[in-house]
Amino acid sequence: MSSEELRSANCEVRTGESGQRRADCGERTAVLQGTAIEKEFRLGPEQLQVLNGVDITVRSGEMVAILGPSGSGKSTLLHILAGLDRPTRGDVAIAGKPLSRLNGEALAAYRNRNVGLIFQFHHLLPEFTVLENVMMPCLIAGDTPSAALQKAEQALAEIDFTSRLRHRPAELSGGEKQKAATARALVTNPQVVLADEPTGNLDSHSAQALMDLFQDLNARKRVTMVIVSHNERFAQRAHRRFYLDDGLLKETT
Ligand code: ADP
Ligand code: MG
Repeated sequence: MSSEELRSANCEVRTGESGQRRADCGERTAVLQGTAIEKEFRLGPEQLQVLNGVDITVRSGEMVAILGPSGSGKSTLLHILAGLDRPTRGDVAIAGKPLSRLNGEALAAYRNRNVGLIFQFHHLLPEFTVLENVMMPCLIAGDTPSAALQKAEQALAEIDFTSRLRHRPAELSGGEKQKAATARALVTNPQVVLADEPTGNLDSHSAQALMDLFQDLNARKRVTMVIVSHNERFAQRAHRRFYLDDGLLKETT
């Protein structure tokens, strides 16, 4: 395996004392760690405690599902784990780096390189083509346009998205939009991909295809994934399942 392949598999290449390179794909490596996460929303005089001390550890190469009733705080938790929102108390570490130590700009840069995000609604930029949308995270990270183009083409080819690259989001089916969003999430080779009800807006056939794609990316490329889903069949495919209720996250069988 080349170091590039290892990197893409979210494994670290380390040089041991003997100088020998070894791949550390150990299931022990914590890629994402949330510790005692609490979140309160204040709406005027009212205070809403949504998360009440959530702990979660996601290891390299895992596919984890988060389930829970509507309004239980799944999106809130996912946004905090992704560094899109700050917890009221507690902390999140990605690849060992506590996000609380990063200011807004540094956090955005860290997220850009280390976190891939997929939402229920694709959030593709409507005025740009598929290719340009997938190039965007690389351009933000400072890649040259030609380097960004090469990475985008590779990320799209990796998921067999080889035609319609110059279509705009409005010219794509729901399933194609989510595939484009998936390529965009993967293009920077992030430590972890977080998805918030990614199949929630798809017909059952497209939902099944997206589930197959996620499972394939996890199995073949060892992409570490955290997926919020109402889809019980989707959750059954995950290595571990968590249930969020009353502000607490519990692992279920
Ligand atoms: P889920 O994704 O599980 O459906 P959410 O995380 O979206 O749940 O929301 C959990 C609770 O937090 C809901 O009661 C919601 O109204 C509330 N909430 C979410 N975001 C905010 C916000 N920015 N301000 C106030 N309340 C919020
Ligand atoms: Mg939600």
